[in-house]
Amino acid sequence: MEDGATLKAALLNGPLVADLSGLTTPDRDVALDNLVVAHEYGHYIHHRLVAAGNLQSLAQSEGWSDFIALHLALRSGDDLAGAYGHSSYVARPGALVRPAAVHLFDGHEQKSADLPAHPGRRAAARRRAAAGERVGQFGVHNAGEVWATMLWEVYVALHEAHAGELEFDAVRRRMSDYVVAGMMLAPTQPTYTEQRDALLTAIGQHSVEDFVAAAQAFARRGAGTCAVSPPHDSEDLVGVVEDFEVRPRGRSSPPGSTTRSTRATATGSSTPGSRAG
Ligand SMILES: [Zn+2]
Repeated sequence: MEDGATLKAALLNGPLVADLSGLTTPDRDVALDNLVVAHEYGHYIHHRLVAAGNLQSLAQSEGWSDFIALHLALRSGDDLAGAYGHSSYVARPGALVRPAAVHLFDGHEQKSADLPAHPGRRAAARRRAAAGERVGQFGVHNAGEVWATMLWEVYVALHEAHAGELEFDAVRRRMSDYVVAGMMLAPTQPTYTEQRDALLTAIGQHSVEDFVAAAQAFARRGAGTCAVSPPHDSEDLVGVVEDFEVRPRGRSSPPGSTTRSTRATATGSSTPGSRAG
């Protein structure tokens, strides 16, 4: 109406040349995008099984959900080193669902185990958070991308570890079970490394081989044995210490002690903020 009135007023001033063009970007219904539906279902599973609430666990929820969607999408015969887009129907070119994620992944909005382990990625998330971008939903999606990428690395590692031995669907089923068990074992409002430890514990109950493959996959993404997460209540995610190795982590007993023995685990303690090794 307003535009029409403007046009009418302009016509009163004499001949007028005008262009007419239609919208070229249709409004796409997200309910038609399987990966979006799967993502939201991932939130349902996560919030049912993990007492989330702090920034890190809410970010993990986004990561779990992205992973669950991509886990649904990957089929037997697909390139394990390929890059796969998320929500590509809704996120048409030029209208990304999560524009901020592009920066986090240096221009790649896809998740792919083919991306080299990049020490800067978690650091980038931290810097962006420190710059005040954490507030708002893109904050949890940004940090969640980091968790999703770790999970994808684990999943691909399991497929590679069982190549020629287990069918694709068998590995796929295993990962589904690991995801659910890993959530069930998580403490309240887990940090990244606590949730990592819960997932590794779940995996280790079933297969030592899978446990090692998964621990090494986490390490390739910066969550190795001595990685440190920000504190539980962190609002800016400052305090990340990356580690790219898997190593035994021992604790020496005081001389003469009989109650505390030397112990070594692949992932070590999940005490927030603690560091050893
Ligand atoms: Zn989400």
